Amino acid sequence: MPRPMKWRRVCSLPGNTEFGPIGASAGGVGTVAMTVDEYEAIRLIDLEGMTQEECAEQMGIARTTIQRVYDGARRKIAESIVDGRPLHIGGGEFRLCDGDHENCFRKGCARARCRGGDGCGPAAGGPGPGRGHGRRHGQGRT
Ligand SMILES: [Zn+2]
Repeated sequence: MPRPMKWRRVCSLPGNTEFGPIGASAGGVGTVAMTVDEYEAIRLIDLEGMTQEECAEQMGIARTTIQRVYDGARRKIAESIVDGRPLHIGGGEFRLCDGDHENCFRKGCARARCRGGDGCGPAAGGPGPGRGHGRRHGQGRT
């Protein structure tokens, strides 16, 4: 039996999933495939400034696992920009955060950000402190 799949919590789906060198002639270079959980690790650690430990907690996975995910993601970015290969983000072992999880730090969380007020939107800066579930506002982006 294969090991049971361990879902990785992802708070925000990538707004763009296709990247590539601008103006490059389409050569025979292969696309670099990044999974959404790898994208999330990059987002949380490199953009939000989380430690790997915090990121692991946020995504609901082990610290040893996040290290592997993060290293893999970094390598893919490097391969893309160094070799000029297109980067595609999609798939992976993940589950979209519903914003209700107690470990969700709500940094850039697509669900927790929506509190049913006017500030609901992708660019809502500085979500206020405090917890509370807020209403599920729509079903998020798909
Ligand atoms: Zn979340």
